[in-house]
Amino acid sequence: MATLNSGVPQGDLKDKWTQYKDSINLVNPANKRNIDVIVVGTGLAGGSASATLAELGYNVKTFCYQDSPRRAHSIAAQGGINAAKNYQGDGDSTYRLFYDTIKGGDYRSREANVYRLAEVSTNIIDQCVAQGVPFARDYGGLLDNRSFGGVLVSRTFYAKGQTGQQLLLGAYSAMNRQIARGKIEMHNRHEMLDVVIVDGKARGIIARNLITGKIERHSAHAVVVASGGYGNVYFLSTNAMGSNATAAWKIHKKGAFFANPCYTQIHPTCIPRSGEYQSKLTLMSESLRNDGRIWVPKRMEDVKALREGTLKAIEISEENRDYYLERRYPAFGNLVPRDVASRAAKERCDAGYGVNKTGEAVYLDFSSAITRYGKEQVLLQGEDANDHKLIKKMGQEIVKSKYGNLFQMYEKIVDENPYENPMMIYPAVHYTMGGVWVDYNLMTTVPGLYAIGEANFSDHGSNRLGASALMQGLADGYFVLPYTIGDYLSDDIRTGAISTDTPEFKEAEENVKQTLKKLVENKGKHSVDYYHKKLGNIMWDKCGMSRNEPGLNEAISEIKELRADFWENVTVPGGLNELNKELEKAVRVADFLELGELFAKDALTRNESCGGHFREEYATKEGEAKRDDKKFNFVSAWEYKGEPSEAKLHKEKLEFENIEVKVRSYK
Ligand SMILES: Cc1cc2nc3c(=O)[nH]c(=O)nc-3n(C[C@H](O)[C@H](O)[C@H](O)COP(=O)(O)OP(=O)(O)OC[C@H]3O[C@@H](n4cnc5c(N)ncnc54)[C@H](O)[C@@H]3O)c2cc1C
Repeated sequence: MATLNSGVPQGDLKDKWTQYKDSINLVNPANKRNIDVIVVGTGLAGGSASATLAELGYNVKTFCYQDSPRRAHSIAAQGGINAAKNYQGDGDSTYRLFYDTIKGGDYRSREANVYRLAEVSTNIIDQCVAQGVPFARDYGGLLDNRSFGGVLVSRTFYAKGQTGQQLLLGAYSAMNRQIARGKIEMHNRHEMLDVVIVDGKARGIIARNLITGKIERHSAHAVVVASGGYGNVYFLSTNAMGSNATAAWKIHKKGAFFANPCYTQIHPTCIPRSGEYQSKLTLMSESLRNDGRIWVPKRMEDVKALREGTLKAIEISEENRDYYLERRYPAFGNLVPRDVASRAAKERCDAGYGVNKTGEAVYLDFSSAITRYGKEQVLLQGEDANDHKLIKKMGQEIVKSKYGNLFQMYEKIVDENPYENPMMIYPAVHYTMGGVWVDYNLMTTVPGLYAIGEANFSDHGSNRLGASALMQGLADGYFVLPYTIGDYLSDDIRTGAISTDTPEFKEAEENVKQTLKKLVENKGKHSVDYYHKKLGNIMWDKCGMSRNEPGLNEAISEIKELRADFWENVTVPGGLNELNKELEKAVRVADFLELGELFAKDALTRNESCGGHFREEYATKEGEAKRDDKKFNFVSAWEYKGEPSEAKLHKEKLEFENIEVKVRSYK
């Protein structure tokens, strides 16, 4: 039985990190030159860690499966990055960012890590500005901020709707400097397929060269996994198509514990699914909720007419619209946390008010913002305040300047002009808060093996506010790991180079080769995507937003069956020693098929609702606990102080329908 020791230092929360840094072991600059570190991943976490470790003097070997580090999934991040700079003077502070992040994670994150995250958040902005990241600025030239859901201050730094891309270019430039100096040995188009453990310590990895298919051994004194999240276990998600769990899963199988695997963030503002053959969902940034108002029709006849195409959203009058977030949560309105917004959308759609053909969409409407901004501009420019056409035009220009690229993206995908018609949105899987368990040093339960960024579990609890993932990735890579890894590596200054010519490397390499061979030689009857889609359906239906005991038990046995069928019947065209995208996918889906089961088991043991997940409990009056979708309902909610709890509303409704329910609510 292993004992988990977080290693959180003693002392006051606000002093822990400072005191800890003062007392941990360091590696002197000359010794750093004798130490190798492998970093798997070049997103914001891995990119920033690689650059900083190399700058410090370590020899870094960095791996990514893309053709360039700057194509890591982090590039997709749109909305922004949080930092407690308090540039707006609206009451922000380190403590407030800490508190909001803890609350946003439903009080399930590790406080010491989150306080440290809030503390270093301000350094991140300084670092990125120094690298030339073009954050948006206000009229006076100062860095601008916007608001994100679940908080009452403006602390989100952004670069239009391309914050991740700009931050990644910053980290990538810092990496390039080190690649040019020979301090980072960059391995693009390489996929880590196993970790190698020697005498209980992580000492290297087995990687496949994705162009030639060659299986390679790489050694180091420590291994850092920064491989991102596993939202694609659901098949459809907002993640990049390539995002996968393989690195995290392989280290789990070699002894690194996993924590909270079932905690997934469901993002409320994604473009709804259009049909069966879709392979990707697209996010509309949360920043849009600053100005967009979310609604569905109040009247069922309007819903029907919308679906039949005989009515347009803009033809529905104000009094017949239900701005349900503003109605239920007056203090936060459309900027409630993501889990609350997602759940409310699902609740309205489950009640039959979804506005598209599939019944899975609500409106995100910018008409009020366009009018508000337009009126302001007309006044500022001394134009006719009654000229509605001009007001609309000027308002649209302001909205375009704020969210132009997002509107353009929406129009390209949906083929509708969102300046004229409200956007349609629906919740989708976005981010995984669970991941590899790490201690205060970001080290896993395997000595010398670290996990940073979205791949670890430490900072987000069960939900996550927007703009905190980028903050965590960069905090881990620029400011936390470079300190904490030294504490471990200080014992390795005399170890010398790690040989790859050992039984441990040989065995790991053989296992990888065997698995790949089996996949290529299987010649079954179904494609890899066939299995991935099936897994995704099980995950979304039974381990998605609403979960219940019978459904989770079903999911566990269905995933087991699917996995057995995969190994029996999957077909992978192409060979081993060549670029083979299907083989890459097959390895990843094989891991998803194992992770999915753990995920469902974790969800099953949590008889609670938290974050984006709602545990359904019910029994009929007669005492039968049987599954009946019509009677299923959410009975738990994050309750806002003094505001009506949806849980209570549901309870009343269900009792009226003669169904007994238990209510849990979380403040
Ligand atoms: C559409 C979208 C928008 C988002 N917007 C925001 C936002 O506005 N603000 C915010 O804070 N967060 C946002 N997020 C979340 C945020 O983007 C991610 O959590 C974050 O970028 C993850 O960074 P990372 O460095 O941990 O991993 P990633 O960026 O996913 O990078 C993973 C890296 O690991 C490599 N890798 C993985 N497995 C292997 C392997 N086996 N072998 C070799 N290399 C491997 C990949 O090649 C890649 O380089 C958004 C997420 C999505 C999906």
